[in-house]
Amino acid sequence: MGNRCPSCKEIFVPSSPVCPKCKVDMGWDWVELPQTGEVYQYTYLVLPLWDPHYGERWANPYPSGIILLDNGVFFRHRLEEQDKDKLRVGMRVQAVWEEDYDKRGQGMGDILYWRTIEE
Ligand SMILES: [Zn+2]
Repeated sequence: MGNRCPSCKEIFVPSSPVCPKCKVDMGWDWVELPQTGEVYQYTYLVLPLWDPHYGERWANPYPSGIILLDNGVFFRHRLEEQDKDKLRVGMRVQAVWEEDYDKRGQGMGDILYWRTIEE
């Protein structure tokens, strides 16, 4: 879910209590986001990183992307594809959720990564 500014109508994800552009209270206009989009930019991290929420080391390498969701909202998250030769701008991806509800924390980490899909 993202939330929409009552003034400029921009949708923010992660949600924000105040619009960073208009400086107004965002209110309660929640918007369900599409679970598909395309990779707008990506990077391929080879440095070891630690998950800030759970304290576990993330798998390395760690492909990270900025995903342009199908409604035009940008979303930064992990990509499943580990082969850097297969990563490309414009590739279609879909969110893969943590299936074990006991492991969900109602945050960005509930999406494990974005899987490449063919359409
Ligand atoms: Zn605004």
